[in-house]
Amino acid sequence: MNMYDVSVAPCEEYGDQQVESALRAVLEPIHGLDFVHPGMTVGIKVNLVSAMKPESAATVHPSVVCAIVRLLRERGAEAVIGDSPGGIYAAPYLKVVYDVCGMRKAEAFGAKLNDDFSQEEVTFPDAVRAKQFPYTAWLGKADAVIDLCKLKTHGMMGLTCAVKNFFGTIPGTKKPEFHYRFPRAEDFANMLVDLYEYSKPRLCICDAVVGMEGNGPTQGTPRKIGCLLAGTNGHMLDAVAAGLIGLGIQDVPTLRAAAERGLVPEDTAGISVCGDPSRFAVPDFKTVQAQSSVFFQIFGSGIPGKAADFVASRILTPFPKLDPTACVGCGKCAQVCPAKAIKLQDGKPKIKRSVCIHCFCCQEFCPKGAMRVGRHAIMRMLGR
Ligand code: SF4
Ligand code: SF4
Repeated sequence: MNMYDVSVAPCEEYGDQQVESALRAVLEPIHGLDFVHPGMTVGIKVNLVSAMKPESAATVHPSVVCAIVRLLRERGAEAVIGDSPGGIYAAPYLKVVYDVCGMRKAEAFGAKLNDDFSQEEVTFPDAVRAKQFPYTAWLGKADAVIDLCKLKTHGMMGLTCAVKNFFGTIPGTKKPEFHYRFPRAEDFANMLVDLYEYSKPRLCICDAVVGMEGNGPTQGTPRKIGCLLAGTNGHMLDAVAAGLIGLGIQDVPTLRAAAERGLVPEDTAGISVCGDPSRFAVPDFKTVQAQSSVFFQIFGSGIPGKAADFVASRILTPFPKLDPTACVGCGKCAQVCPAKAIKLQDGKPKIKRSVCIHCFCCQEFCPKGAMRVGRHAIMRMLGR
């Protein structure tokens, strides 16, 4: 019987042996690999958000990927590694992602890098928001799924960890549609919870050896946290991981959505953890405040109420903000913007805020970190 919901174990650095020992230590108390049997195919949904080197801390470190592959192979299972980052979900782009992110190393341990880029339309009647969606078929073909995520800040959702990782089951070019379908933070978060629940990973592992703070999920700053986390419930793992970087359940839209559905307790005190998470807490971790559209309805209906909501939303809502000194005018932000809110003028992006849906795709995919999460002056004064 599993006594713990989440397990946390120290891991100081990415040496192969050190990571493997830490992984064994973090999995043992939760019997994390008991579901694995010889001959089964395990799909490892790795966070490979973009073609970025492991040192950037944007993607799961190859040492962690290799360690779980070795443990699966030990048990006689096949391991398939994959993800669908933003961009064209096809072999040429994923080849670059695998190369740059260091995934080739896992092949040496017998893993397969996913080369099935087919998509299927799935239905999920139990979903709250996403009852039908396109899905990366490879993961559906696996006998079991492992969620291998990274602890990072996220411009729109505040945190990306176990649950947000499953946005990578939506084929890359279809992702912008989802931002349009679910522009409100609460709806987007519920959609992510739906994707997680549909995928039903048997095990979640978080690489928090080095996380990302600040302008995440791709252009933030690597920050040592020094541990691995594991659990069979990704919502609970997220709640514990969020606590390490100073975020509570109510600060993270996916956790709020999960709590409303009873998938995670309202308070982390209700989660049994093996290990002492407070050892790894980083009190000055630079977080970003998640977008929250719940405030937009505080003043009610009618013209005065709507006007007040509009003003409140302009003050409360984070927005994409350009750092012109870092911008090289490549136009990638305009290409990925699902709302077509960005046009290049005189070689620099110009954002039409009235059209912007606050998805932060521009911030996520800017290769120079020139697009940031901006705050209204009042919110900055309040320290939010
Ligand atoms: S993607 Fe970044 S560097 Fe490129 S134009 Fe947009 S802000 Fe500038
Ligand atoms: S400007 Fe940026 S945040 Fe706004 S809709 Fe476009 S990509 Fe999303």
